[in-house]
Amino acid sequence: MDYFKNFINGEWKDSSSGKYTENRNPANTEDLIGYFPSSTKEDVNEAVKAAREAFKKWRLVPAPKRGDVLKVVGDIMLQRKDDIAFEMTREMGKVFAETKGDTQEGIDTAYYAASEGRRLFGYNAPSELPNKMNLSFRIPIGVGGIITPWNFPMAIPTWKIFPALVCGNTVVFKPAELTPKTANTLVKIIDEAMHEVLGKDYIPGVVNLIHGSGRVVGECFLENKEIDLISFTGSTVVGKRINEVGGRELKRVSLELGGKNAQIVMDDANLELALDAVLWGAFGTTGQRCTATSRLILHEKIHDKFLKMLVERVNKLKLGYGNDKGVDVGPCVSEAQRETVNDYVKIGLNEDKATLVAGGDYAKEGNLAKGWFYKPTIFKDVTPDMRIAKEEIFGPVLAVLKCNSLDNAVEILNGTEYGLSSSIFTNNVNDAFRAVRDIQAGITYINGATIGAEAHMPFGGVKATGNGHREGGWTVYDFYSEWKAVYIDYSGKLQRAQIDNY
Ligand code: NAD
Repeated sequence: MDYFKNFINGEWKDSSSGKYTENRNPANTEDLIGYFPSSTKEDVNEAVKAAREAFKKWRLVPAPKRGDVLKVVGDIMLQRKDDIAFEMTREMGKVFAETKGDTQEGIDTAYYAASEGRRLFGYNAPSELPNKMNLSFRIPIGVGGIITPWNFPMAIPTWKIFPALVCGNTVVFKPAELTPKTANTLVKIIDEAMHEVLGKDYIPGVVNLIHGSGRVVGECFLENKEIDLISFTGSTVVGKRINEVGGRELKRVSLELGGKNAQIVMDDANLELALDAVLWGAFGTTGQRCTATSRLILHEKIHDKFLKMLVERVNKLKLGYGNDKGVDVGPCVSEAQRETVNDYVKIGLNEDKATLVAGGDYAKEGNLAKGWFYKPTIFKDVTPDMRIAKEEIFGPVLAVLKCNSLDNAVEILNGTEYGLSSSIFTNNVNDAFRAVRDIQAGITYINGATIGAEAHMPFGGVKATGNGHREGGWTVYDFYSEWKAVYIDYSGKLQRAQIDNY
């Protein structure tokens, strides 16, 4: 059986704890993938020290050259796309087409980052004094701590690590405990590309990988004074903790947190299209996307008809191992996650008194009994005050609410603490634009599902979904760089701004 390692200062190393955690296939718990290190504070400190040392050299590598490394990373990922996806499905459960998409997002992010190495534009501005020039540049910050969740084991780390590297920072990466193998694959590829592009000038320690729990390894990131910035994607409760400690230590912190996304279907919508979208949005990745459709807000005029169509289709979804052909929905990622889902179903039935119209139970027929499967579940008669309408469930559970107008639909949609993704199906152009204006979310789709962000667009949410930063596209480069203003005076005399000229 494979024992995997951490990656510190350019070498694969065992943890100082000598302890390991096992990683199993959530669709078949008899399938043991391997053992991964339960790392310690000493391991984190060693990796941060290596990253700090590497920063001295990496920041001086010209940005286009740093971009060349990312170009090779993208090329290798493209060559190995199917293998990466197969192993990712085995590790976290979502179906092969989706893990291929997850990998493609990493490839897109690599190529974007590669070209950004030749941009990283600064601004210049005229000086208020004669014979003086004002310029500004992006400069790297230092060592980044990267903490990621399990639901996009490839894409999310790449959203963070690639722009961090292109900007000239070095990183220490702590992946989710449930998806360590994909993290190893990614770091191996980055290291291969570093060797290929830098050759004899290879710099060890630019990227370091430390496996382990959030409680131990994650907390060490927070307290380590040599980590200058933390980029975190995960739950709101952990995000608040990171913001609290990071704020105290004056670390730069980017948070991408929970969601309770909704799709609105108005009475003039193309219902077939809206149906395909909600099936994809609510049950793709077994509902375990931060942008998953967790609420469906139906106009009262089409409510009954649409719900009937939806239930018919949901009951036909095929559950199974995501690497098998014809499977629509994989398992929950773990037993604990499935229990959370089941607890929310009980809340929906007992506390909230909503009506179950599909699913509502574990799926245990045949081979499904070997994994953490849960039947795609739908509640109707849900009202905005219910817990299943407000709290993030992160599983295959959809709450259906009724609205009687656009204003009413938007009010319901906005009625949670989160604000990540949103969608409206309507053929009324005025309603579509009003929705874009009034919906409180970082992402709004018109006639599209709540999932499906593209790598070159800003990604993130408002309200309790984050702290105002965005990943993706050009926006993320603001997080991984500082601005330096430079004044060049070629007048040959002391010129005092604001004083000599006014
Ligand atoms: P989580 O918060 O439990 O864990 C995320 C990461 O944080 C893991 O690597 C974990 O080990 C680490 N961690 C846990 N406790 C920590 C601590 N005290 N200090 C430092 N690190 C710690 O989340 P999860 O269960 O892995 O992922 C699901 C959550 O992620 C959902 O809430 C989902 O909405 C959110 N998510 C958000 C986005 C987004 O972009 N907004 C994307 C994907 C997932």
